[in-house]
Amino acid sequence: MTEVTKTLCPYCGVGCGLEVSPPAQPGKATHRDSQGNPIWRVRGDKAHPSSQGMVCVKGATIAESLDKNRLHYPMVRDSLDQKFRRVSWDEAFDLITKRIQTVRFTQGPEAICMYGSGQFQTEDYYIAQKLLKGCLGSNNFDANSRLCMSSAVAGYIQSFGADGPPCCYEDLELTDCAFLIGTNTAECHPIVFNRLEKYHKKNRKVKMIVVDPRRTPTAEAADLHLAIRPGTDIDLLNGIAHLLMRWNYIDVGFIDDCTSNFPAYAEVIRHYSPEIVADRCGIDVKDLETAARYWGESQRVLSLWSMGVNQSSEGTAKVRTIINLHLMTGQIGKPGAGPFSLTGQPNAMGGREAGGLAHLLPGYRLVKNPQHRAEVEEVWGLKRGQISPNPGLTAWDMITGLEDGTVGLLWIAATNPAVSMPDLERTKAALMRSPFTIYQDAYYPTETATYAHVLLPAAQWSEKTGVMTNSERTVTLCPAFRRPPGEAKADWEIFAEIGRRLGFVGEFAFANSAEVYAEFVKLTRDRPCDMTGLSHEQLRSQGPTQWPHPAEEMGRTGDGEKEDGEMGRTGDGEINFTPPLHHKSPSTTSSKRLYTNLRFHTPDGRARFGAYHSRGLAEPPDPDYPFVLTTGRLYGHWHTLTRTGRIEKTRQMHPEPFIEIHPRDAARLEITDNQLVEVRSRRSKTFFPAKITKAIAPGTVFVPMHWGALWADNAEANALTHPESCPDSLQPELKACAVQLIPV
Ligand code: SF4
Repeated sequence: MTEVTKTLCPYCGVGCGLEVSPPAQPGKATHRDSQGNPIWRVRGDKAHPSSQGMVCVKGATIAESLDKNRLHYPMVRDSLDQKFRRVSWDEAFDLITKRIQTVRFTQGPEAICMYGSGQFQTEDYYIAQKLLKGCLGSNNFDANSRLCMSSAVAGYIQSFGADGPPCCYEDLELTDCAFLIGTNTAECHPIVFNRLEKYHKKNRKVKMIVVDPRRTPTAEAADLHLAIRPGTDIDLLNGIAHLLMRWNYIDVGFIDDCTSNFPAYAEVIRHYSPEIVADRCGIDVKDLETAARYWGESQRVLSLWSMGVNQSSEGTAKVRTIINLHLMTGQIGKPGAGPFSLTGQPNAMGGREAGGLAHLLPGYRLVKNPQHRAEVEEVWGLKRGQISPNPGLTAWDMITGLEDGTVGLLWIAATNPAVSMPDLERTKAALMRSPFTIYQDAYYPTETATYAHVLLPAAQWSEKTGVMTNSERTVTLCPAFRRPPGEAKADWEIFAEIGRRLGFVGEFAFANSAEVYAEFVKLTRDRPCDMTGLSHEQLRSQGPTQWPHPAEEMGRTGDGEKEDGEMGRTGDGEINFTPPLHHKSPSTTSSKRLYTNLRFHTPDGRARFGAYHSRGLAEPPDPDYPFVLTTGRLYGHWHTLTRTGRIEKTRQMHPEPFIEIHPRDAARLEITDNQLVEVRSRRSKTFFPAKITKAIAPGTVFVPMHWGALWADNAEANALTHPESCPDSLQPELKACAVQLIPV
């Protein structure tokens, strides 16, 4: 018998189940990559409820990335112009501990920052929170999820009183109308799209609407593609609402019984007549009417979105405006319906559960909430008041903190901000000024390693045991099945050792990650994400499990619910105290939707309408910068290429960056296919070969975001983007900026 390990794909938030087995098996030729190196065999896990055996090219080739360009040993240097020298773990830990103590006692704990990642397992996230927010008293932990889905978090909290996508993947095959906005699901969440597309093809009455300025592969499959101008999402959504109201497709009973603030919303949508909306969005009135009719005539409407909505200076407003449509038509809490945010990273959801953003604490708690802080302090065995009441620095705040000298120590783990942050020249200049940067990662070299004083080798997926939660709240155990290279250690082990060396010996006395997880789930008791019924052992024996999964799975009414609320610098700082969500007899065997009882986490149990007028882009085009640049991802690549850039198959699929330009714009500027184009924004300039295509609308251009300085000269999409952020979610508008094009 060949041993097969069941685990989860470590790329995107779809969270596909994988079965992995060793390269050499009795009676079979050793499995090898294209260079002849033995590699682990990977196939889809048919028993995984989320993916049912399907995988995309990234999941299928993941094993080829495991041994390439790995960081094996701790390394240090005194300044960025020196070469790294290898040191022992003991020396590295000693150096970091002393430096933390120096910064802590000279500048204060708020000068210490950590920037983590949705690639963390939940145990890594949890121990990082305990170290930073608990023991050091600094809430300056933020993750790359801030760039990915923090607008969805803020939108859910403001509308429903609590975070957590209410839907599940089963809804893809139960809906009458799928409304996809700001998501190229076919390329970025391929297995979610496979499920939806198969169902759509089989059921011709089911409608698929795609809203995207580009004609993506997702849009190709739609019954209706609305190629709106970038930044007009709220106009479109309010315009659909206007027609639903005019045609009396609203669910008055649901609005009366289950929602609040509808009059304010009705007053806003009154102004969005079809003619005005069609003109602003650059679409036909007829298409707008078709979209409203599809929505209004469907018994079950499921909306899906990702970065095209979230990465916006009005991201939270966009999320809430999507949710408004569901509330006004009663499209939530039933099979095949609801507002479903697709997460980018494999464990972005685990990060939300473990409190892995600067305003959160474990168990969907908030640092601003005194009771939440007290509850966490009690479980962590800390004195009252140890956790700071102030939300910490977000990802972009850390950059500005380096600029103004208030950040004394930056610890970056499992992410590559020297490619993924906005305004890269400014980001890199800030990183150059960092007094002390620790970079903890599985891979070397990366663009961010250039700015590190200390490199710590991290064990990655396959080399450490922990759990991850996918977009539909399904928790999967990911066991170690191979040894880490060199001296690499699990992220949580590194954080825990630093905690012990800082004097918190008992707080970090974990023998293994199962013990870490057991402590974490205690903090979810009676919270919306209650996972007290889960453990490594339970997940190993029963397989992937969706939350909520309280210890007493059946019959819990949730009367012990405490509080929820939201972060936002524009708010009044009030904490939002909420009544319980009553889960109706959740089952361990079937998919769970939230809000099936139509009672929400808000103080009055009602979902709140958000009334928003469209503000448009933070940096709209003008005569000097007449094009809107939009950025995005490609099917075969993952984020900043640390893995997929080193896998032959995925590299060949997308060998180099490019800029998509509409033929009309190309003709006007005398740009030909493959010609190099200089792309300038107010922040920087880059060069890309032109790809002339009608897939992009006139006036808009598209560049993929994957390539950093290691891979291509002057072809970094984020050199052009700006950091203007949503005031509620503090998520930067990475999706759009104004540029000019100059043929070279
Ligand atoms: Fe992995 Fe996402 Fe592809 Fe599934 S869809 S195999 S989780 S990259």
